[in-house]
Amino acid sequence: MAKQKRENRTITVDFNDEATYHQLCQDGQAFIEFVVAFIMSLGFQLKHKCGCQGGFSLTRHSHYVRVRLGGLVIWRLECKHCGAVFTILPHFVLRYSGVKPEVAQRALLATHGGLSLEWSATLFNICPMSIYRLVCAFGRTRLVTVLTRCQLPIPSYFLADEKHSHCLTEKVYLPTIVDGRVIWHLGYTEDKSAAAFEVSYAQFQHAAHTVEPDYQPQGILTDGFESTRKSLHHLFPNASLGNCLRHATNRVGSKLKSVAQTVRDTFKEQFYDLFEDRTEPQENKVRSLGQKLRRFAEKVSRTAGQENGERIRQWIARKKDGWYVLFRNPEWSATSTLLDQAHNALDRKLFMMKGFHHPEGSQAHFLVGLALLYNFVPYQRRAKNADKCGVEVQGGKLPTNDWLLNLQILTSGGFL
Ligand SMILES: [Zn+2]
Repeated sequence: MAKQKRENRTITVDFNDEATYHQLCQDGQAFIEFVVAFIMSLGFQLKHKCGCQGGFSLTRHSHYVRVRLGGLVIWRLECKHCGAVFTILPHFVLRYSGVKPEVAQRALLATHGGLSLEWSATLFNICPMSIYRLVCAFGRTRLVTVLTRCQLPIPSYFLADEKHSHCLTEKVYLPTIVDGRVIWHLGYTEDKSAAAFEVSYAQFQHAAHTVEPDYQPQGILTDGFESTRKSLHHLFPNASLGNCLRHATNRVGSKLKSVAQTVRDTFKEQFYDLFEDRTEPQENKVRSLGQKLRRFAEKVSRTAGQENGERIRQWIARKKDGWYVLFRNPEWSATSTLLDQAHNALDRKLFMMKGFHHPEGSQAHFLVGLALLYNFVPYQRRAKNADKCGVEVQGGKLPTNDWLLNLQILTSGGFL
């Protein structure tokens, strides 16, 4: 018989140290007050049952003893009005896992840094499946939910593209949405059709609408892949679709057939230079870009032959609207470099999915878990933005200075 699905209302609370927790467990009222003060300091609301007026009128429900954690007492609090029950996990316990946070932190950091699950497991003396499960456990919460809890606005302009990867022998695609240093969506599909991508990007749209019912992006930058553009246009008909200028420049090379490499390189440079002047949003800039593009195609015809010139001309005709968009909105990023960086950072970890491809495993949860690590693990000491994580670089607010504890708190199911 299928297990009945119960609403997850677990909340991780930072009790500062274990002794404080044990002390508070002796005094119900003090315990409730501490928990309420903590949640209010975050500015979060509790997830009540439908129709409840909300708020913090809580009472002790029951406690239970978690055997595998050495007999630790875990408290549950109940809303006096609707009866919703919140399980309060202290910061030194991980949900779904008997692994200690210190150990998990080191193992996840190693995994995030590119070490295999197997090596991370050996070094930190936990089994690879535990690490995999940890990543999946965090990945059960939507990225949009977690990021907006850090007060990041859902981006009005973002980069979207699909990472091509392999799972077992199958080719898979990972539709991704990035804004600056933060991944907002990381999906999974085995098909590269517009319909399949749309299903994935619609998950982001749905999550965004849950938080902000009127959400509509103004612009989206893609690499120009047809399925991507179609699916996004269908979901967000009012958003302007830009085409990445760096990808366009690389395409120029592949459009020119039977010419010397030096000729190809010169044209690529000249093409990229056409886009230099992207300062103020002026229609005459767009018009002059149109002229420059025409002249560029003519020059290709003269130097590299009619056929090459014609190929370039047709390609420009198909793509130019996506470049004009970038000229009308000069504050928008014109290249998808930051999205490529995010994909590169994930690449080695995605390979690990192979070993854990089994009925119990969930690629979707694992991927979201990886994206959360990407967003919340601070950069190394020598890097630009050292000791800050992506969310902070984008201006987000974090509950504590401890990245793993932040993930525990922010992925809690008991908040709205
Ligand atoms: Zn309630």
